[in-house]
Amino acid sequence: MDTADENSRSAIEQQLELLRRAALRATVAARGRDARVDEALDELRKHINGRSRDLEAAIAALSAAIMSMEDDQAAANGHVSGDRTGWLQRLLPALRDTPVRAAAGARAALPVESVRAGLCRILVHLPLPASFDDQVDSLRAMLEGPLEPEALGCCVERVAELVVAAQRAESRELEEFLRRLTARLEVLDGVLAEQGAMDAARLEDSAGISSAIREDVGNIRESLDCAGDLRELREAISVRLDGMVTRMTRYHALQEQRHQESRRQLHALEEALVAAEEQAGELESSLSVHRRRAVQDPLTSLPNRQAYDERLRAEVQRWRRTGEPLSLVIGDIDRFKELNDRHGHQFGDEALCRVSEVLRHQIRSSDFLARYGGEEFVLLLPGVPLHQAAMVAEQLRYVLEREGICADDAGSPVTISFGVATFTGDEDADSVFRRADRALYRAKHAGRNRVVRLRSGDDDEVD
Ligand code: GH3
Ligand code: MG
Ligand code: MG
Repeated sequence: MDTADENSRSAIEQQLELLRRAALRATVAARGRDARVDEALDELRKHINGRSRDLEAAIAALSAAIMSMEDDQAAANGHVSGDRTGWLQRLLPALRDTPVRAAAGARAALPVESVRAGLCRILVHLPLPASFDDQVDSLRAMLEGPLEPEALGCCVERVAELVVAAQRAESRELEEFLRRLTARLEVLDGVLAEQGAMDAARLEDSAGISSAIREDVGNIRESLDCAGDLRELREAISVRLDGMVTRMTRYHALQEQRHQESRRQLHALEEALVAAEEQAGELESSLSVHRRRAVQDPLTSLPNRQAYDERLRAEVQRWRRTGEPLSLVIGDIDRFKELNDRHGHQFGDEALCRVSEVLRHQIRSSDFLARYGGEEFVLLLPGVPLHQAAMVAEQLRYVLEREGICADDAGSPVTISFGVATFTGDEDADSVFRRADRALYRAKHAGRNRVVRLRSGDDDEVD
C-alpha cells in the first residue's frame, strides 16, 4: 500500500470513527421510547462498537421495532397514517441510510452524497425550537455547499448534537406543556373546592362534576401514556381540556340558574313574610279591638261586667296573698225608671254616660269602676278598708248630686245610692257582693241618695 493509499484510508477511518460516535449518540438520544426499540438500539450499538458482524440485520431490526412502535401508538390513538407519528421514525431511517451503510463497507469509498442527503433529511425533521434556527441554517448551508469528505464527519457530529438538543428541547416543551396543564387542572380543582362549600343540591352537582373531571384527568393521563409525539399529545389533551371547560361552563350556568332561582324564592319569601307581618299586625289590632269590645261597655266606655269579673278574681287573689284590705261598692241610680219615663230613653242614655264620667273622674288609678248592668255600677277599692270605702262612696254621691244632671231646670238632679262592704276572713267574693247589695237595698229603703256600709258577720249597718 502506497503512502497516498495509507493517507486516504486513515482519513476514511477517522471519518468512520466520527460517524460511529455520532451514531452512538443518536442511539442514546433515541432510547427510552419503547422496549423493542431499545433492544434494537442496543444491538445497533454493539455493531457500531464492532462487536457484531450482521450490521444490516441490526438496522432492519431497529427499523422494524420503530415501525412497530409507531404503528402501536397510532392504533392506540385512532390514527392509521404514518404522517402523524413521531419525528424519530422519520429521523432514524435517515440515519440508517447514511453512516451505517458506510460503516458496513468500511473499506469502500465513503458515499458522501448519500450521507449529505441523509443529514439534510434529518435536519428537516428535527423538532428544534427557533433558537436553533441559525445553527440548523448554517449546517444545512454547509451540507448543501461544496463539501470536502473530511468535513462530512464534522457535519455528522453536529447533526448528532442537534438530535440530542432536539430530544432535550422536546422534553422541556413537554415539561412546560405539562406545567401549564397542571396549572389549568389546579384552577379547576380550586373551582371545585369553592363549590364544596355549597348547599346539598350544589354538592350533588359538585360531586357529579368532580367525578367527570377525575375521569377527564384519567383520560389525559391515558393520553400521556399513549401519545406518539408531542403534537399528538397536545391535540389529545387540548380536546380533553376543551371538554372539561365545556363541562365547567355548563356547571357554572346551572349554578347561576340555581342561584337566581333561590334569590327569586328568597325575594318571594321576604314579600310573603312582610305580607304575613302586616296581616298579623292587622289581626292583632283587630283582636285588640274585639278584646276591648268584649270587656268594655259600648254606651259609657266603662269596663263591663265581664271585665269586672276578671278584675275581681285578680283583686281577691291579691287580697288573699297580701292581706291588704279590699272593699266593694255597688252604686245604683235612683229612680232611673222615672227619668226614662219622663224624659225619654235617649236622655236616660245621656244621663248614664254623664254619671259614668263623674264617677270615673273621682276614683284613683288603682280603683276599678265598671258598669255592672242597667243603671248599676260596681267599684273595687284595693287597699281601702270599709270606713274609707264608705267615704269614697260618699264623695262620689256628693259630687254627682252637686253635678246636677237634670233634664230641665225645674227637674231634680240625678242621684245615686251606694252599698259598701269589705272582704274579711276567708269569705268569697259572692258573699261580699251580697253584703254590699244588701247595704244598697238598705240605702234605697232609707230614702236613696245615700251610702250604707255593712260589716261581715252581722248585718249591722255601720254609721
Ligand atoms: P231605684 O231607685 O229603686 O233603683 O229605682 P229605679 O227606677 O232606678 O230602678 P228600676 O230597677 O225599677 O228601674 C231601672 C231602670 O233603668 C229600668 C231601665 O229601663 C233603666 N235602664 C236600664 N238600663 C238602661 C240603659 O242602658 N239606658 C236607659 N236609658 N235606661 C236603662
Ligand atoms: Mg237597679
Ligand atoms: Mg235604680
